[in-house]
Amino acid sequence: MNILFLGTGTSTGVPSLCCTCPVCQSDHWKNKRLRSSILIRNGEYHLLIDTSSDLRQQCLANKIARLDAVLYTHHHADHVNGIDELRCFNYFNKTRTPLYASAETLAQLKSSFQYIFSNGKAEGGGVSQVDPIEINGEALELGGLTILPLDVEHGRMMIKSFRVQNVAYLTDCSGIPDKTREALQGLDVLIINALGFNAHPTHFCLSQSLEVIEQLKPKRSYLTHINHQFDHETVNATLPENVELAYDGMEINCGNSI
Ligand SMILES: [Zn+2]
Ligand SMILES: [Zn+2]
Ligand SMILES: [Zn+2]
Repeated sequence: MNILFLGTGTSTGVPSLCCTCPVCQSDHWKNKRLRSSILIRNGEYHLLIDTSSDLRQQCLANKIARLDAVLYTHHHADHVNGIDELRCFNYFNKTRTPLYASAETLAQLKSSFQYIFSNGKAEGGGVSQVDPIEINGEALELGGLTILPLDVEHGRMMIKSFRVQNVAYLTDCSGIPDKTREALQGLDVLIINALGFNAHPTHFCLSQSLEVIEQLKPKRSYLTHINHQFDHETVNATLPENVELAYDGMEINCGNSI
């Protein structure tokens, strides 16, 4: 199994439009952060977590020509607005895309993208061909992978994170319920959001993310959903051993399944 970071930025992306700060003005490629999403590849199977606003650009940059399913963490715009880009995968690969999400996220998707979910009655150009599938606490088996949906706090919302084999992806997280903590023991890889330096109501900041890493003790950790406060090289150099800032295009091998 292999994880590709398609985007590692917060909701505005980095650089942020209109910002003149040194990171947004930086030429360093690791300071360019598209909206957060990962692609999990297990052999030929391609599992996408969230259809970010930048999905088209992300698939072009990484030559992604196959998507087998999408798992959604929640319905915020930066995590769902690329849903239209599924159309090309449906058209060229002659497939439909299963969308796995909580009941709340599915309801929000159906409301925001009514034309996709109206059973082909939309007029005009093609729409994404999707099959919504509700997830609850039960494990999913997809493409030879066991996936455990887990609740995490995102401000006052409860959203989904996912444990895939011995890898966990926690984006847009500001608190971890005890039950989820129990399910996050014995990880090889933890991917967790670290928005910036300052405390924030809906995201962990750097010190809080490092505290979670210290408690859960995964073998390796990667920080994502990053805002424009972090100059990549500067902040990365300060991190503990086995903790790194993720960057767009980063790939990690997780070995254990095919
Ligand atoms: Zn987000
Ligand atoms: Zn900036
Ligand atoms: Zn969010």
